[in-house]
Amino acid sequence: MVLPFKHEPFTDFTDEAVISDFKAALDQVHGELGKEYPLVINGEKIYTDDKLESFNPSDKEQLVGKVSKATKAHVDQAMDSALEAFKTWRTWKASERADILHKAAAIVRRRKHEFSAWLVYDAGKPWNQADADIAEGIDFLEYYAREMVELEKGKEINDRPNEQNTYFYQPMGPGVTIPPWNFAFAIVAGTAVAPIVAGNPVLLKPSENTPVIAYKLVEVLEEAGLPKGVLNFVPGDPAEIGDYLVDHKDTHFVNFTGSRATGTRIMERAAKIQEGQNFLKRVVAEMGGKDTIIVDKDADLDLAADSIVNSAFGFSGQKCSACSRAIIHEDVYDEVLDKSIALTKELITVGNPADENVYMGAVVNQKQFDKIKEYIEIGKNEGELAYGGETDDSKGYFVHPTIFKDLDPKAKIMQEEIFGPVVGFAKAANFDELLEIANNTEYGLTGAVISNNRDHLNRARYDFHVGNLYFNRGCTAAIVGYHPFGGFKMSGTDSKAGGPDYLQHFVEAKMVSEMF
Ligand code: GLU
Repeated sequence: MVLPFKHEPFTDFTDEAVISDFKAALDQVHGELGKEYPLVINGEKIYTDDKLESFNPSDKEQLVGKVSKATKAHVDQAMDSALEAFKTWRTWKASERADILHKAAAIVRRRKHEFSAWLVYDAGKPWNQADADIAEGIDFLEYYAREMVELEKGKEINDRPNEQNTYFYQPMGPGVTIPPWNFAFAIVAGTAVAPIVAGNPVLLKPSENTPVIAYKLVEVLEEAGLPKGVLNFVPGDPAEIGDYLVDHKDTHFVNFTGSRATGTRIMERAAKIQEGQNFLKRVVAEMGGKDTIIVDKDADLDLAADSIVNSAFGFSGQKCSACSRAIIHEDVYDEVLDKSIALTKELITVGNPADENVYMGAVVNQKQFDKIKEYIEIGKNEGELAYGGETDDSKGYFVHPTIFKDLDPKAKIMQEEIFGPVVGFAKAANFDELLEIANNTEYGLTGAVISNNRDHLNRARYDFHVGNLYFNRGCTAAIVGYHPFGGFKMSGTDSKAGGPDYLQHFVEAKMVSEMF
C-alpha cells in the first residue's frame, strides 16, 4: 500500500554511530574512484574512447570517474530508441510506472550514505548537504509517483443527457532533460523522472561536472525495472550535443535547470520549428537567482543572522536559492551585521569533506573559482569587505565565506548572480524601501522576510515578487511536496518542481465527447 507522502528525514551527523557509517561509505566510494562509465542507449551500455573526466573539487587531482561522451550520432540513436519505447511506455498504467519510482526510491534509501558519499567526491558537497540532496532525490521519486496516480484520474467536466464527456491527460512524446551540477542527484532525479512517470521517454544529458552520480541514478532505475529506451543516458560536451538535443525534431520538451544564459538560449532555439516537426516544443526552465533576505526593524536579530549565514554559505552559496543580498533596516543594520560576522566565524569551517565533516568544501571548478574571485575584487571596490575574501586553489577550489557591507543596492555585487559564498549587505530606511530594493533585480526566485510585524509580512506576501517567499526562516532548502520550487522574472518558467502542478508540464489534456 502506498502511504501518504512524507519527506525523507535528514541524517543526524552528531550521532557517533552515524559518523562511523558515513566514513565507511566514504571509504567504500574511495575504493571505487577512477572507474569508467558508459552511455546507456536503449538499455545498451556503450563505452566511447572520448571521455569526460570528473574530479573532486576539494582535491582537484583526484579522479572521480571517466564517463563516455555521446556524439550527435548517439543522440540520434537515443532518440530512435526513445520513440520506439514510447509506443509501449505510454500504455502503462500510472500505478505501474509509479511502482518503478517507489522501488528506485527504496534502493537509494538502502544505499543512502553511499550515494551521499558519491556527491562528496563528485560535487564537493559537505556531508549534511549531500545527505539533503539524496533525501530530496528520494522525495522527487516518491512524490511524482503519487502525483501521477492522481493525475491519471483526469478531471470532472460536464455531461448532457445525450452526451458523455471525459477529460484526461496523456503523455507527449520523448524529450530532453538537462540538469545542473549543484543538486547532482536531486535535480537530475526530479527532472528526469517527472516526464518519465508521465509516460515520456527521456534523453538525459547530465552536467559535465557531475556525470558519475547521474549514472548511478540511471543504474538504480534500471534495477527498479525501467524498460529499455525509456531513460537514455547521453552525457557529452555541451558545445557538441547541447543545441543538437534541443533542436532535434523529435524533442517534445526540454526540462532544463541551469544558468540564465543557457535557459534563454534553449527557449529561443526550442521555438524554432524544425523540418519534419509537427508540434510545438515545451520548455521548462529553472534558471538563476539573486535572492534577498530582508530584516525588518522589529525582528529576531539572532534568527536574522542565522538565516542569512546559513542561506548564504550552505554549499558555498552554490544554489540558485542562496541568499546573496541582506537588506536590513538601518536601525538594526550594525547589530545584524556584527551577529552575522560572529556566527560565520563560529560556524563555518572550510576543508575537504571527503576527509572531515566541514561546513563548506571547495567550489565546483576552476571556472567558478575564477569568477567568484573576480566578484570578490569587484566587491572590494563597490563596498567594504567586512569578513573573509580569502581564496586558495592550490589543492582544491577553496573560497572562504565572504561578507561585504555598505553596498549600493544597484552595485554589481547586489545585482549579478555570483554562485559562490559571497553576500552583500545594504541598508534601507523603512519597510517600503526594504521591499523596493528586494524587488530591484531581474530575478525573482526566493526571498525571506525576518519580521515580527504582521502588517509588513502581509504586504510582503503580495509585493515581494519571488516564486518562493519565506517568513522568519532562511531562503534555501525547499522540500519536495512542502515548498514547491520555482521563480518569476528571469528566474525561469515558474514551473514549481516538487509541487502539485509540475507533472502537467509533461502531459497533454484530452477531451473525448460521445453522443448516445
Ligand atoms: N531547491 C533548492 C533550494 O531550495 C535550490 C535548487 C537550485 O539551486 O537549483 O535551496
